[in-house]
Amino acid sequence: MINIAIDGPAGAGKSTISKAAAKELGFIYIDTGALYRTVGLNAMRKGADLENDESIASTLTNDLSLELRFVDGEQRMFLNGEDVSLAIRTPEASMAASRVSAVPAVREYLFDLQKKLAKENNCVMDGRDIGTVVLPDAKVKIFLTASPESRAKRRYDELIQKGMDVKYEDVLNDMKQRDYNDSHRAVAPLKPAADAILLDTSGFELERSVALIIKTIKENI
Ligand code: C5P
Repeated sequence: MINIAIDGPAGAGKSTISKAAAKELGFIYIDTGALYRTVGLNAMRKGADLENDESIASTLTNDLSLELRFVDGEQRMFLNGEDVSLAIRTPEASMAASRVSAVPAVREYLFDLQKKLAKENNCVMDGRDIGTVVLPDAKVKIFLTASPESRAKRRYDELIQKGMDVKYEDVLNDMKQRDYNDSHRAVAPLKPAADAILLDTSGFELERSVALIIKTIKENI
């Protein structure tokens, strides 16, 4: 199977760009952030202390079911049979995802699931540690980034479009906090793989970013 790894900070346009690239290549697109978000949502719902690793780890019970389903080519997330695709996009769920993702037990729990998906499918997988940890043998690795302001603006526009009531300043502050958490955690911190291709899309229109990434993948596949 051919696997493409796309990593980078929140709001770099990874999901939109990866989805478009996957479509062009005829591969499936796997958004691993959705997995961390679902574990975060589950921990929130179970009333876990999000500052405490053990409390978070204790929510990974045997009866927990995380399922990725593809409906009309779109990835949807199911938590214990419930479609939580929208519920995992709130700012609270974003922050919970960032917290649970620093817990080694959570990363181990999701590692096997991600490996299995990549083994069974030609895919474009996006996340933070795909090129470094999950798929170190990926055919092409891309590290996609953009300035915090440019990323916050994109995320803000997305949330507003989804009808959520948010402020730009809050989105920017959350983004910076998540960047800090993601790049300073002890396990699988956000960093480019040694053999990743770095692409900076600050100020790029979406079409331009998509075209650049497709060209880069095709040249390196
Ligand atoms: O990509 P997205 O913003 O949806 O990811 C939500 C959170 O999940 C990130 O802030 C990050 O902490 C975590 N994550 C991760 N490793 C991945 C994907 C996401 O730690 N491969």
